[in-house]
Amino acid sequence: MALWFMVGIICGLCFVCLSAELQRLEQPGKGDGSLSFLVVGDWGRRGSFNQSRVAFQMGKIGEKLDIDFVVSTGDNFYDNGLSSEHDTAFEESFTDVYTANSLQKQWYSGKNMTANSLSYAVLGNHDYRGDAEAQLSPLLRKIDSRWLCLRSFIVNAELAEIIFVDTTPFVNTYFLDPEDHTYDWRGVTPRKPYIANLLKDVESALRESTATWKIVVGHHAIRSVGHHGDTEELVSHLLPILKANNVDFYMNGHDHCLEHISDTDSRIQFLTSGAGSKAWRGDVKQLNREGLSFFYDGQGFMSVQLTQSDAEIVFYDVYGNILHRLNASKQFLHSSM
Ligand SMILES: [Zn+2]
Repeated sequence: MALWFMVGIICGLCFVCLSAELQRLEQPGKGDGSLSFLVVGDWGRRGSFNQSRVAFQMGKIGEKLDIDFVVSTGDNFYDNGLSSEHDTAFEESFTDVYTANSLQKQWYSGKNMTANSLSYAVLGNHDYRGDAEAQLSPLLRKIDSRWLCLRSFIVNAELAEIIFVDTTPFVNTYFLDPEDHTYDWRGVTPRKPYIANLLKDVESALRESTATWKIVVGHHAIRSVGHHGDTEELVSHLLPILKANNVDFYMNGHDHCLEHISDTDSRIQFLTSGAGSKAWRGDVKQLNREGLSFFYDGQGFMSVQLTQSDAEIVFYDVYGNILHRLNASKQFLHSSM
């Protein structure tokens, strides 16, 4: 899922080249020093499997929290991504579903005014089964200016820096045993240097970040007790970088559930929000439940509210009921190191 984002640049988001390779987007804050956004994943089913009901509750909570943008953790369009830039699934699963005012609101930035809140999205494994490059196309932003999907990028939202990481290329199974699926690896292969460069860019972006809150978003879980479990490739290659650079939150989808796991030897909180439509898989993994504080097998989404000193993260079900709340204090986190 991504930010529903803009006809690019007009919206006041500035695209600036980093010293590294990751594209950097400047996300203006509210002005009162706070930031709030919603996180949803694994959703694009033309409104079915309760996607529309989750979207309706997102609209209500989005209004209540006066959100700045929406983050999509990937698997944006089922079952096989978009077939092209002209695939009507884009409108049927995105534009026609997330229709609430709070997900469309106007905002002002400098001289420019944009008619949309933003949504930022990464690609999931199902997105790579279609025309992956179609979701990255500027044409989609002409159809719905809220949409912004890139492979890996940085959103600088003043008090928080959010680094979006393309995690699908890390997973060995998709390359070694793809079964009857075909993946669109254009722009990814050769895989080894792609991953090496990405890790290098993520490491340098985190190291140089001076933001109060450091957040990393990917499609695949690092830690999960859901259907897919931990992603060992990310535990081996990405997690050490996050630990070394004091990342606060890692947010993902992929498992169709809501979940909160605390790392046992760092400040990182692992947060799964992959419940945007189909859920209720019912096969919770029994292994490695270390640090697990919340797991919900049904549909829903997550909200994030940040200030300079505090973070509040809330999980909601399909009716908008609060299922779990995580409060973190920057002072406390620092002093607990
Ligand atoms: Zn997935």
